[in-house]
Amino acid sequence: MNCSYCDGKTNEMYKVNQLGKAFCGNDCYDEYMSECDEAPDDMNHPYIDDYELMRLNYIDWLENWEADLLAVRGIQVILKADEMLDTIDEVFEEYSDYYRAEGDDGIFAHEIYLYMLKFKELQKKIIEWRPKRQPPNQNVCAVCQSIFSVKVHSKSMKNDDALFCEKCKQAYYPGIFSEGELKREMEQYNNLKGLQAHSRKKDWPYFLRKIKRSCRYHDIPFPDWIDLNYEF
Ligand SMILES: [Zn+2]
Ligand SMILES: [Zn+2]
Repeated sequence: MNCSYCDGKTNEMYKVNQLGKAFCGNDCYDEYMSECDEAPDDMNHPYIDDYELMRLNYIDWLENWEADLLAVRGIQVILKADEMLDTIDEVFEEYSDYYRAEGDDGIFAHEIYLYMLKFKELQKKIIEWRPKRQPPNQNVCAVCQSIFSVKVHSKSMKNDDALFCEKCKQAYYPGIFSEGELKREMEQYNNLKGLQAHSRKKDWPYFLRKIKRSCRYHDIPFPDWIDLNYEF
């Protein structure tokens, strides 16, 4: 996309007006508005506030999400990521009308919808994000700090295998379930209605968080027992 004012290439900071003209950002948009007499008054558009908030919110996330994860260590990385994912879910609740309509109500509604799709992609990035790995063979567990060995060339190696010892992987449920694993896990607890299940399962809140991450990742709705003892 090129800017309607300076003709430069736009990036994630881009901004549109209600006719669908794109601009680099606030500066080019403001210049254009002050120079072009026929420009429509976007400020009176019914969706302008939602659009502006959504746009600024997304840009803010884009600039900060990785730094926020880099600022924490060990098990806090998982907890921080989960907290961020929950916060993004709240955006979805707030703008759900736009999402259901797939942005079908003019350019601002369409842009809001596109931002929601971008937020979904961002959730996947956050789910997949891991601190830089230490040299393989011998790693320090991100939770308990014990030293453990990794099979480097194993085909089934997952993202988390180099970061968590087996014990912590069992207890803290990092990462996501594969789609098949997720369906099996959900079936099991759907049948039990989660009720007895959570009292039997140690580390249930960690397990629930993994279910949540997996659902987001595979675009599967949360089961209705998702809030059961979710907090620690
Ligand atoms: Zn420009
Ligand atoms: Zn450990």
